[in-house]
Amino acid sequence: MDRKLPWWQRLPLTVHLMMCTYCARFKRQLQIIRRASQTDAEGLENESTSVQMPDDVRRKIKKSLQDHLS
Ligand SMILES: [Zn+2]
Repeated sequence: MDRKLPWWQRLPLTVHLMMCTYCARFKRQLQIIRRASQTDAEGLENESTSVQMPDDVRRKIKKSLQDHLS
């Protein structure tokens, strides 16, 4: 999402994302996390909105996604 890939690398992923509910959910969660981290910077104190992602959690998500895609 952050990196620009050539279309021939992006295409299988795009097709997959259109069909796969697991990835669609993951993508939505990613967007929520992004939005939360943006609003977090604005100083929201609500605990549910201040999403923190430790490195091990990030790694776990990344690995599960890689396992899923392969
Ligand atoms: Zn998928």
